[in-house]
Amino acid sequence: MPTELLFRDDAYLRSASARVVAVSERGIELDRTLFYPQGGGQAGDSGVLQRANGERVTIVDTRKGEGPERILHIAAPSGPTLQPGETLALELDWARRYRLMRLHTALHLLSCVITAPVTGGNITPDKARLDFDIELSLLHAEHIERETNALIARGAATETVWITDAELDAQPELVKTMSVQPPRGAGRVRLLRIPGIDLQPCGGTHVADIAEIEGIRVLKIRSEGRHNKRVEIALQQ
Ligand SMILES: [Zn+2]
Repeated sequence: MPTELLFRDDAYLRSASARVVAVSERGIELDRTLFYPQGGGQAGDSGVLQRANGERVTIVDTRKGEGPERILHIAAPSGPTLQPGETLALELDWARRYRLMRLHTALHLLSCVITAPVTGGNITPDKARLDFDIELSLLHAEHIERETNALIARGAATETVWITDAELDAQPELVKTMSVQPPRGAGRVRLLRIPGIDLQPCGGTHVADIAEIEGIRVLKIRSEGRHNKRVEIALQQ
């Protein structure tokens, strides 16, 4: 059974209730969830599932299950075993997720400041990186930092847009990231638009306004191979 993805419509939702659908060694499946599963370079969410009797199950990671829109919540090894059908209170580790949202949205800006094909990426709560197919000598930390922070200071409300697979196929230039396939499903693709700055397919969680990123700093620029020049960033705070 597909899981209703509450984070897709509202990335700011921190708590919700849900029913247990299945429990296996691989993870816990719910009828709806706040927890973003690892994907598109973004780390899976963590948090807590609370039973009606107050017992708490710590969720250490979230992964995609088999089949579209099936989500596996990975519980810490010790803890109560949940029963299918029971109702739970879901609580996200919001501080961690919000950092992921700010860093993830910052990578969208980075991909506009550095105009080269993106060949890889990763987002953790502490730092994020994109790999570009570009000459290393063209990447200057100070310039990248200044340009990215200028966009952040400008501020812009982000928007989610849906288009059909056929519409995306007709506009291949929208796909900047060669390493991650656009999040297709049921014939439609989700795009993130930052008006006047960026438009690209993305299934991740983003801040509502890029001003919320506040500021980034470039941690490292290095070569990870012929087509992978890596730019690693962190939040200023
Ligand atoms: Zn995104």
